[in-house]
Amino acid sequence: MDLALLESTLAELGEPAYRARQIWEWTAQGADGYAQMTNLPVRLRDALSERVPFSTMTVEREARSADGTIKVLLSTHDGRPIEAVLMRYRDGRHSLCLSSQSGCPLTCAFCATGAMRFGRNLTASEILDQALHFRRLGRVDHAVFMGMGEPMINLANVLAACRRLPDLGIGHRHTAISTVGWIPGITTLAAEPMPLRLALSLHAADPALREELMPVNARYPLAEVIAACEAFYAAKRRMVFVEYVMLAGVNDSVGQARALADLLDPRMFKVNMIPYNPTDSTFTGSSPRAIAAFAAELERRGLSATVRLTRGRDIDAACGQLAARV
Ligand code: SAH
Repeated sequence: MDLALLESTLAELGEPAYRARQIWEWTAQGADGYAQMTNLPVRLRDALSERVPFSTMTVEREARSADGTIKVLLSTHDGRPIEAVLMRYRDGRHSLCLSSQSGCPLTCAFCATGAMRFGRNLTASEILDQALHFRRLGRVDHAVFMGMGEPMINLANVLAACRRLPDLGIGHRHTAISTVGWIPGITTLAAEPMPLRLALSLHAADPALREELMPVNARYPLAEVIAACEAFYAAKRRMVFVEYVMLAGVNDSVGQARALADLLDPRMFKVNMIPYNPTDSTFTGSSPRAIAAFAAELERRGLSATVRLTRGRDIDAACGQLAARV
């Protein structure tokens, strides 16, 4: 729902200011249209149905995995594709993976979104509408900005959306913003009062290898990115998650695990190893044995290391794959 359009429409209709709050409450609690909002006059519900589309997004496709993961391909009013995913874990978490941009201006070598053309930043309402789509299907309690795009390049809109996520059931402590290491964004987030979590996509402890995988490393070099994350920790006292995609023969040796352990202070960083979801790129994912050896080396050095559960493999739920195929 375009909340700015909602407010201006309510003002034009001469409605009192509390109407916007009433409508938002219904929406955030999973109502699927104005018709359900029984504390609004019928004529107002009708007027809104005509003038303020209930969602800024149209569902183009939906894919459901055997493991309960649901992925949607949505399009904006101007036809930009974006993806959002709901992952249901056995421990009961219902976690959303949200997009901040249509496409991505960065060109990480292994990522399907990076191979698409960059569209534009999403508005705060377009970000919220992804979450609301899944809220209408049931409970949601965690969110990560690990869908399409680089959230730190659209941080004002991402933060505006985050401010409202608790109304849907997603607390700030259960919301993580994932970045390639966009330093100005990390610095802004460190000064942000909302207790949001920070995740850093690192993927290599060696600057030359990192730059090959992630060209953005030329702009924001590894050492400065780590320093910015340490400053985030100092300001917020919240551990930073390090995302590390495991690429066979590229970044997954035990020696590279040692270099990673040398780089990261175990009091400030936790490592999340991500099994690579195959795309059309030339990379292949590391073997379970290589992943286990890498994790063991990190743990031997005192770093907390977990392997991210793969969800929705049967539906291409990774990183631009649905949109890239359309
Ligand atoms: N731009 C942000 C957020 C989007 S990507 C960032 O880079 O952090 C979310 C995570 O998915 C990143 O860690 C990214 O490196 C990872 N990723 C991209 N393509 C992947 C793939 N094919 N398989 C597994 N993880 C992938």
